[in-house]
Amino acid sequence: MLPELNGMPVGAEAIRRLACDAGVVRMVTGPDSEVLDIGRTTRTVPAALRRVIDRRDGGCTTPGCDAPTAWCDAHHIVHWADGGPTNVDNLRLLCRRHHTVIHESEAAARAGPGP
Ligand SMILES: [Zn+2]
Ligand SMILES: [Zn+2]
Repeated sequence: MLPELNGMPVGAEAIRRLACDAGVVRMVTGPDSEVLDIGRTTRTVPAALRRVIDRRDGGCTTPGCDAPTAWCDAHHIVHWADGGPTNVDNLRLLCRRHHTVIHESEAAARAGPGP
């Protein structure tokens, strides 16, 4: 049974990615990354902080990517669910595509070498 978000079944990693920037969910994950709780809003990137990061990064921070700030999410380098703070040092801009890539590679790293 997958958890649902707005009626759509979603995986734990998609929830982590959405939660990274959207500030819409709180979630608690167990040892196998299963989602145990999705609930209230607990964090957002305030507009003033986002403006500082937009000015500093000027767009997606992935080398070779020139996506403008408007296409970018503010990515928590240490995920807020892992205790990462919502501050300028822990946030970097990533376009939607690279934001998805980085969360999927983090998921792969946590899972370890697969079969
Ligand atoms: Zn992120
Ligand atoms: Zn990018």
